[in-house]
Amino acid sequence: MHVGNLRTALLAWLFARSAGACFLVRVEDLDCSRVRLGMEETQLADLRAIGLDWDGPVVRQSERMKLYEEAIAGLDADGLLYPCYCTRAEIRASASAPHGISAADRYPGTCRELTAKERIEREASGRPPALRVRAENIRISFEDRLLGRYEGEVDDFVVRRNDGAPAYQLAVVVDDFAQEVGEVVRGADLLDSTPRQILLSRLLELHSPRYAHVPLVLGPDRRRLAKRHGAVTLADRNALGESPREVLAWMARSLGLAAPGERPVPADLLARFDSVRLPVEPTVWSPETAA
Ligand SMILES: [Zn+2]
Repeated sequence: MHVGNLRTALLAWLFARSAGACFLVRVEDLDCSRVRLGMEETQLADLRAIGLDWDGPVVRQSERMKLYEEAIAGLDADGLLYPCYCTRAEIRASASAPHGISAADRYPGTCRELTAKERIEREASGRPPALRVRAENIRISFEDRLLGRYEGEVDDFVVRRNDGAPAYQLAVVVDDFAQEVGEVVRGADLLDSTPRQILLSRLLELHSPRYAHVPLVLGPDRRRLAKRHGAVTLADRNALGESPREVLAWMARSLGLAAPGERPVPADLLARFDSVRLPVEPTVWSPETAA
């Protein structure tokens, strides 16, 4: 894991433990194109290496297909879904909505009101449809624990992909409820998804968790930290002679939880943690500051 994702995990751990709550780990492995053999073991080992622990067994989404399929079938039975035959390129070409989810990701509603004849024509292409939810451009607002009130308009997003896999948006809502998650702590890059997930939990009549979207670690180009920014993973840092404890110290300093030269452990950070005093601005990572 890179230092940005590790820092988000550290924050999620601090939020949970400081509230006396359980810290749960869930492996979101539904996107087969992104899952690699051994990835889960490496990520869990990285969490352990910086001193994080968790409660209960690790839950894997790939083992919970039945739950997601039941939720999708329920939405479909209520008339809340429709098939969409569009390709990503077609959606991008017709996208014009300027707000919320980036224009390229917003669905313009092309397949929402197809006639029977139009549907048959599209089915003839042989391309299996995705299933989208009828969101009716509803506006959803919620109170983020760090960022305050946030409001977003919800487009007709995908709940089942055209390869048959349940979409991330659907799976996390089902899982958060099933695992009795009280609070979701995650990177601010997922803020846009939250109105979608709140809408889904309403449609599925599931209780929705609270949310805290924490600041990201950015590369020197101010884009989301990634491999192309150099030695950014825990393994990369270790190979350069930095111990996991030193990487943890950098994360703690970047959050105002440690002084230069200190080598705290997570329990030290827990004693100092106060969510109100966390920075809300992203941290720009550079190799010089990491050491
Ligand atoms: Zn469509």
